[in-house]
Amino acid sequence: MSQFWSAHVHDLDPYVPGEQPKDQRYIKLNTNECPYPPSPKALQALREANLEHLRLYPDPNGDVVKDAVLEYFKEHGLTRSEVFVGNGSDEVLAHVFCGLLKHDLPLLYPDISYSFYPVYANLYQIKADVIPLRDDFTLNIDDYQRPNGGIIFPNPNAPTGIALSLASIETLLQRNPHSVVVVDEAYVDFGAESAVSLVKQYANLLVVQTLSKSRALAGLRVGFAIGQADLIEALERVKNSFNSYPLDRLALVAGAAAILDREHLHTVCEAITQTRTHTVQALEQLGFTVLPSSANFIFTRPPLGQAQDLYQQLKARGILVRYFNKPRLNEYLRITIGTEAEMNELIKQLKQLVG
Ligand SMILES: *Cc1c(COP(=O)(O)O)cnc(C)c1O
Repeated sequence: MSQFWSAHVHDLDPYVPGEQPKDQRYIKLNTNECPYPPSPKALQALREANLEHLRLYPDPNGDVVKDAVLEYFKEHGLTRSEVFVGNGSDEVLAHVFCGLLKHDLPLLYPDISYSFYPVYANLYQIKADVIPLRDDFTLNIDDYQRPNGGIIFPNPNAPTGIALSLASIETLLQRNPHSVVVVDEAYVDFGAESAVSLVKQYANLLVVQTLSKSRALAGLRVGFAIGQADLIEALERVKNSFNSYPLDRLALVAGAAAILDREHLHTVCEAITQTRTHTVQALEQLGFTVLPSSANFIFTRPPLGQAQDLYQQLKARGILVRYFNKPRLNEYLRITIGTEAEMNELIKQLKQLVG
């Protein structure tokens, strides 16, 4: 606490990212990073970039990335005015909270979802009603039939990995024509249906995606949103009141190349979903309960309720997983899907710890 702080800063409750310890090498299964390298085309674009041009500001509009997004989703016939780009999807989400979700009526989001949502709600002083998931951690769209100033949830959800069907999302959109429904698709490529196909039909839909997970570029910081021009304009207004150049020159060229490399995306997602299947089977054989995952992580309850203990013992053995010491979550571990070899090592260690 400092006399120099703005009053509001005293009340902030900042997001705590998964640990990135530097004391030793870990098998890192705690922050949903991709275990495989980014697209070789993205790396090539970085090598070929003219570094002397770093003396010049980048394109404030990020058009090469917007155009790559349009090409990637070309079957949906989008235009540049329907795409927004930002410094990671966290920044995109921050602008969404500021520009589209602050109203007199409360914002709705699930009690168990991305823990950045309450942080942004608090930062921008947005009233929120937190809606509990069902006991089985699925989202019941009927619970969202109440007056609201917006709805946001990840699909697939985090940290559960459970996906909501496109039909349910469409029902939600139809029931809430006067508020924005934000679908945070950070993990969509690992097994859920994208709502981008509904953007042309629904003026109240905003879809947010990131290059951090399925495209293995968490370190580059590129995210984007897709929605009708009216919603995107709000985000551009906020962005141009905050930082004109969210994507640097390297992020622009590498991000565009990564989005255009469909084949690499496909290969990475295939490998991860196969390893996910193997990991779930092995964990179930050890007596773990595993929620049905459509993401690059699994949410699992150890047989004897020793989640926190296992988190610590795995860390001591060089394997990092995520443990949330919060009601409803504290019996579970969230485990990112790594390479086949990393997951075999995890299973080997778990066999010793619970066997
Ligand atoms: C990882 C994640 C993001 C943020 O990703 P960026 O690295 O900021 O692009 C957003 N939403 C959810 C649900 C995530 O898990």
